[in-house]
Amino acid sequence: MTPTDRLSIFCCPDCKSGLRVIDPWWTPSRRIKSGILFCDRCQHAAGAIRNFKFDFVHFDRTACARRLAERSGDERGPHVLPWEVIDEAIAFDDPRLCLEGSWEACDGKYQLSHGGPGDALTYSGEFVDVGVRLLKHPWSGMVRFEVDGTVVGCVDLYAPKWSTVHWFPIECDLPAGRHTVRILPAGEKNRDSAACQVFFHELAITRPDMSPDRPQPAPEANRVLPVFPDVVELMKSVREDGLILDCGGGDRVLADPRYINLDFEEYQLPAVYGDVLKLPFRENTFDLVFSQAVLEHVRDPFQAVEEMRRVTRPGGTVWAGMAFLQPVHAVPCHYFNATAWGIEELFRNLHIVRTAWFGDLSFTIDWLFKTAGVAERADQAEYADLMQRIKSLDHLVSYEDLKGVASGVSVEALKNADKEAET
Ligand SMILES: [Zn+2]
Repeated sequence: MTPTDRLSIFCCPDCKSGLRVIDPWWTPSRRIKSGILFCDRCQHAAGAIRNFKFDFVHFDRTACARRLAERSGDERGPHVLPWEVIDEAIAFDDPRLCLEGSWEACDGKYQLSHGGPGDALTYSGEFVDVGVRLLKHPWSGMVRFEVDGTVVGCVDLYAPKWSTVHWFPIECDLPAGRHTVRILPAGEKNRDSAACQVFFHELAITRPDMSPDRPQPAPEANRVLPVFPDVVELMKSVREDGLILDCGGGDRVLADPRYINLDFEEYQLPAVYGDVLKLPFRENTFDLVFSQAVLEHVRDPFQAVEEMRRVTRPGGTVWAGMAFLQPVHAVPCHYFNATAWGIEELFRNLHIVRTAWFGDLSFTIDWLFKTAGVAERADQAEYADLMQRIKSLDHLVSYEDLKGVASGVSVEALKNADKEAET
């Protein structure tokens, strides 16, 4: 796919008109590494491309406006880099990392600093982009990022509940050559945090690839839920040169050139950061649009499905699975659960092919107990025994009965080609 091909599927999320890339940087194979996505109608930067990712949410609007003002109408062609690039992960136990102060290996996947003075984790090498994966949890403190001796960022790693590894981009489009990045625990924390810990998982660098003839393995990684079997089947029927949109796919990428993952959150792996309520894609673009465990986390699920319908080609398929009797999760962004009839109502402007529901009753009961803290407070052996006995009753629940007590519901629907032609 050439940059112009890929670019033509995007649009301004606000006014839906086409976008132009200003100050584009291309690799020799004509992939766009960076640039500003400019909307001529809105007369502003609608987004930015950052290390190949199309970002309509987290990009630096001020920096883009400054760059646009500095250009003052001078229209330069694309800058072509002299090399292709390759991504590399540098894990917590990589011998190239230099650890100063008191770090300890932890859980087989982290280096842990308690925030002591002088603690620093340093990597020197050739790279043009760098980011880091760090754990956020209730005992985490602040951390600073330094590149070539200059502090370029500071983040608060505190999270009130649950432990999750987050992605933090540090720098992008540095001049070619050797650079030094340092992860510096600040020894400071916010009011609510219990401590100043910094859990380092890995660095991710992008560096010039001097031997691009070597075939690069297509990246594939999934740090979230597996793709539903129903969706895997639907993907098989998409034509070879078709396009598939994973709406809110979270931290995953599939080794399928037809696949594009859009998420609102700045996870490491999505190709596009955007809002499902105003998708940055032109209408009639995708053969298959799916969203898995997303609609319960969206403020206006009707608008989300309308946007998913808009970007689907006439004759294309929209699939969504969402929570029904699941307890709250990913708080505070959990708004609306749906019954089987509720999700059909969300899809009322599409032609529904199939409604389904899933999740054994014992699975739902276990999740409810866990969320209410019962599982934690009960005697562990007794709780395990109780759940075992409840599980043994699952076979008494028929699929029809499960419709009233399922964990989640899903719908597969068609964007009717004839109906579209009429409107
Ligand atoms: Zn616009």
